[in-house]
Amino acid sequence: MSDLPARRLLLVHAHPDDETINNGATMARYAAEGALVTLVTCTLGEEGEVIPSGLAHLAADREDRLGPHRIGELAAAMRELGVTDHRFLGGAGRYRDSGMMGVAQNDVPGCFWQADLDEAAGHLADVILEVRPQALVTYDGNGGYGHPDHIQAHRVAMRGYELAALRGHRVDRVYEICMPRSEVEAGFERLAAAGREFPFAFIATPDDVPGVVDDDKVTVTVDGSAYTDRKKAAMHAHASQIAVDGPFFALSNDLGQPYFGTEYYHQVHGDPPADPRDLFGGETGDAAGAGGAR
Ligand SMILES: [Zn+2]
Repeated sequence: MSDLPARRLLLVHAHPDDETINNGATMARYAAEGALVTLVTCTLGEEGEVIPSGLAHLAADREDRLGPHRIGELAAAMRELGVTDHRFLGGAGRYRDSGMMGVAQNDVPGCFWQADLDEAAGHLADVILEVRPQALVTYDGNGGYGHPDHIQAHRVAMRGYELAALRGHRVDRVYEICMPRSEVEAGFERLAAAGREFPFAFIATPDDVPGVVDDDKVTVTVDGSAYTDRKKAAMHAHASQIAVDGPFFALSNDLGQPYFGTEYYHQVHGDPPADPRDLFGGETGDAAGAGGAR
């Protein structure tokens, strides 16, 4: 790539659908504004639980064809968000979904939880050197909620950042996804007010939301509210995993929760952003793109 856009954002996620739930509005907004948005997804999500009964045959304990199906769902979601650069770490199917923490799938050779960290991070460093992002987004060290693939995605992102710096490109700013407690609580008040028409079996509480932090831990707040419809359409595209109804959604646990058009980030590497509304810190990027050090 020789003529990259001036601003370049890289996101590292565990499974297809995580990017949309966590960062869909951010991705749609930066793509619309002309930034290069690159998504690296670490597994195909083969172990996901399937919501629609018509797709139940795809599940890992039946035909085990969910992975290829979710490649298609992810591609459809990225069309909704306007994101054209999406890849799988090491290529599609290189690392298998490890399942929830504590299940037998955690020990299967080839699953992401069993991956050699430097090898997996080396694949990510290759992407970093190719697209030379100024901003990198992934989960916190607990993966938001303790899923082994999310924890591993965090480790790979942080190690990939280090390896890429050694190989010639230091990402300016690295962020962990977070949700400020006050916004989560306000979202759940809206959900409670929606009351009886609410279609899901259970209603989540703020404790069910990954990555909740005290408000003062938020470094950057990206207002993607103009792109909430795009995020919703992308969530629809992940139909095997997400049920969407109005301003709420549920995963296979049928636990209803709000989704958000404003998304939040806690910075862990780099200079504090001059503009706390922008993952690039208010900077316009480098017009030379990848020209320099390749
Ligand atoms: Zn996930």
